[in-house]
Amino acid sequence: MAGLLDGKALAARMQTELTEQVQTLQAKAGRPPGLAVLMVGDNPASAAYVRGKERACAKVGIASFGKHFPGNTSQTELEQVIQELNHDERVDGILVQLPLPDHLDGVALLNHIDPDKDADGLHPTNLGRLVRGEPGLQSCTPAGVMRLLEDYNLEPKGKHAVVLGRSILVGKPLALMLLAADATVTIAHSRTPNLAEVARSADILVAAVGRPGLVTADMVKPGAIVVDVGINRITTPEGDSRLIGDVDFEAVQSTASWITPVPGGIGPMTVTMLLHNTVWSYCQRLNLAL
Ligand code: NAP
Repeated sequence: MAGLLDGKALAARMQTELTEQVQTLQAKAGRPPGLAVLMVGDNPASAAYVRGKERACAKVGIASFGKHFPGNTSQTELEQVIQELNHDERVDGILVQLPLPDHLDGVALLNHIDPDKDADGLHPTNLGRLVRGEPGLQSCTPAGVMRLLEDYNLEPKGKHAVVLGRSILVGKPLALMLLAADATVTIAHSRTPNLAEVARSADILVAAVGRPGLVTADMVKPGAIVVDVGINRITTPEGDSRLIGDVDFEAVQSTASWITPVPGGIGPMTVTMLLHNTVWSYCQRLNLAL
């Protein structure tokens, strides 16, 4: 039976540490770190994520400068708000909650964020720093995956890591992080032939696809480490709403050596890495040692 990679427990520990660090740093800096989460429209899932992020900020002592805009807000208006936040000394991190309504150009908006306040690490400058192996703000979900593996001493070095999914948010940055940690990396996607065979060659298999239960036991090498990034809301035959991952957890649990649960795996790590990024950027901007 696979061991559980408990992201919830690690996230709680990291948040306790961050709370203590923020208290000490704030005494030196004279102000707390600040994060602005911008949300446009009324997507209920996004609203729940934003509330979760603001609650986590309050818990560790990060000030929230979140703004909620109506669904018909224009690109120009949002770009102006981002420019104001770029110049607001109290704000160390800016995050645009995705997805955005169709009339908005998300990539153009992200490009307006000051790279040194880019809490989600998605600005081309930060992605470039990741490619070059330079320090910088890193995308929260893949950084959370790496932090969780590290906490369990699961060293990627020398292992074959297969990442299912090639999004700019998860798959691509995670592949780069695994490569930087000396794994041999394969990225697979919807056009990959023989997906099961590719997946079965993995020592570390990461699913970041958004297809409930895509990864079945026959796709997992015995003893592999399985990380499930997927979050899918499904309705059970009994009519209940439930969150499940991209991995058939029950079946894969008896094949893998380690596995992340959904919920309680990568989700809490993502929020915690956002807090970490905000505090990191606060320290960089104010020249404080973390
Ligand atoms: P995305 O942008 O939709 O990308 C999905 C990727 O999966 C694409 O590269 C796609 O391939 C690939 N894919 C789709 N169907 C496939 C199939 N049948 N076989 C192989 N590959 C397939 O999604 P995302 O933003 O990366 O998110 C992926 C999942 O992670 C979602 O469930 C999302 O909710 C979850 N997520 C969780 C967290 C967290 O905090 N835990 C954070 C972010 C995302 P193509 O490129 O060929 O289309």
